[in-house]
Amino acid sequence: MTDTCKRRKFIQQAFQFTSLLGIITVVGGCGDGAPKEAKDVQPDAAPAQVNPCNLETLTEQESKQRDALGYTDETPIPEQTCENCKLYIPENDTKPCGTCTLFKGPVALGGYCTYWADRAV
Ligand code: SF4
Repeated sequence: MTDTCKRRKFIQQAFQFTSLLGIITVVGGCGDGAPKEAKDVQPDAAPAQVNPCNLETLTEQESKQRDALGYTDETPIPEQTCENCKLYIPENDTKPCGTCTLFKGPVALGGYCTYWADRAV
């Protein structure tokens, strides 16, 4: 066998070996087809619910945001309240309090902040 033939045979064997490794890697990595995260999810697990009406569940930053906007439960301007503000989100079947689009936590119908926006406009 000449040197050229030996080299050609070596290259063919090396190519076959790396091809085999590639196939083993692809087949071995297939698993059951489900994303890995999906395996960890419990089908009966309900998502954690945070009560939007509980001030105690707010983070320090969320509380500071309420304060920074000047929110108060009693308006200093009787004609400007959360009730007639366009940013007010009324209570509903899943949320027993009114809330605001600007920050988390409950707001009172008679509340107010410096971002009051007339609902009628
Ligand atoms: Fe109340 Fe201010 Fe929110 Fe309007 S923007 S609903 S006034 S907290």
